[in-house]
Amino acid sequence: MAAVDVRSMVIVGGGLNGLATLFHGLRLGATRPLLLERFQVGHDRASSHGPSRIARSTYPHVGYVRLMRATFAEEWPRLERAAEEPLLFRSSGVFFGPPNGPIDAYAKAVADAGVEVDRLDLRTARAMFPMLRFGECDFALHDRTAALIASARVLRALERVSRAGGAEIQSGTRVLAIDPTHDPIRIETDRGEIFAERVVVTAGPWMSELAPALAPRLFVARQNLAYFELEGSREEFRVGRFPVFARIGAGENDFYYGLPEFDHPGVKVARHVTTARDDDPETPSGTFDEDALEDLRAFAIREFVPAVRGLAGADTCMYTCTATEDFVLAPHPANPRLVFGSACSGHAFKFGPMIGRILAELALWGDCRLPEYQALRTEFSWVGPPSPADCAFQPRGVV
Ligand SMILES: Cc1cc2nc3c(=O)[nH]c(=O)nc-3n(C[C@H](O)[C@H](O)[C@H](O)COP(=O)(O)OP(=O)(O)OC[C@H]3O[C@@H](n4cnc5c(N)ncnc54)[C@H](O)[C@@H]3O)c2cc1C
Repeated sequence: MAAVDVRSMVIVGGGLNGLATLFHGLRLGATRPLLLERFQVGHDRASSHGPSRIARSTYPHVGYVRLMRATFAEEWPRLERAAEEPLLFRSSGVFFGPPNGPIDAYAKAVADAGVEVDRLDLRTARAMFPMLRFGECDFALHDRTAALIASARVLRALERVSRAGGAEIQSGTRVLAIDPTHDPIRIETDRGEIFAERVVVTAGPWMSELAPALAPRLFVARQNLAYFELEGSREEFRVGRFPVFARIGAGENDFYYGLPEFDHPGVKVARHVTTARDDDPETPSGTFDEDALEDLRAFAIREFVPAVRGLAGADTCMYTCTATEDFVLAPHPANPRLVFGSACSGHAFKFGPMIGRILAELALWGDCRLPEYQALRTEFSWVGPPSPADCAFQPRGVV
């Protein structure tokens, strides 16, 4: 009988977090790690595609502010060194919202963590960011750590560096089931069986299929985003001139954000929609909600000083949310060599290189001693507080 090939490490899902785990798995000594991806790296049906994302320290929860500080200090530079290209483009960040709303929690958390975020009065904010109106606000937070992440370039860099380091990426392979009770762990795919010493599952919107026990904690919410051409010279809207920003209101899903023009025509605008819903990730991408696009246009007209000339593009993208907007980064309770990473809720790209490190350390070393992870470990656990029943109805909203 032929000997069974047992892989040292298998990662399921080739979005940002799976690729970042592969990168760190190699760095930590996994030999010939294998990543299985149902489609191909960079496809547009999950959460990681598109040209740009926001990185910022401005969070309402001090634990995330500190996790971001560590990610900025250690992991983005490590990845940029390995990739030999810039992936973060420094860009002023400005975050604002109506008085006595959630923006106050952001102001408190950044002050508690002592990060480089300044509180600006409205006159100063309007002088520094003349593109924005800051309607109904008393103050704005100027985040001097903020950046635009060249997200599509990040995926390509992780793929390139990992392959060069000896990792194998197998596209067009769908994992159907994982048996944590089998030793080595048995992975059933649509192209046959694979055995592995360690497995990390980063399946994005399909996570509940592979981890039914997580299903009560996760829901999938399709997002719509738009790119608008604004009146004026395009130079004004490029990274370094135009800020990354968010307007954080008090109502349901009242969180809109935007980014400069980058690797795609037009300024990007989107709304962060995290009410519990159950969108089907099998619905093809590009199925736009026309009402959502109209809502984004109305926001752009209301908040931008330059007139909106027209739509330069639109896209859809999936969030995989927990009701508290915390991540799940945790070993399976019955087998610590099987680790799950659902780091989305629409805000994990900025942490991606750190999430990869945490997941790789959990899988390969059995723990991650990073203090910033340890501080958030309860929130990141398999079931996690509050209970799933509470989660469904009492969003805490770390974003
Ligand atoms: C519109 C939008 C805007 C965002 N903006 C920001 C931002 O500004 N800042 C920020 O920090 N974050 C942002 N995010 C969040 C960030 O993009 C996500 O947190 C991150 O991309 C999640 O990556 P992932 O690898 O966990 O999941 P995914 O990208 O969803 O990857 C999962 C992968 O697993 C594969 N897969 C699934 N099931 C299987 C299977 N059975 N077998 C094999 N492969 C499988 C899928 O094909 C997919 O490629 C945004 C997200 C969206 C959607």
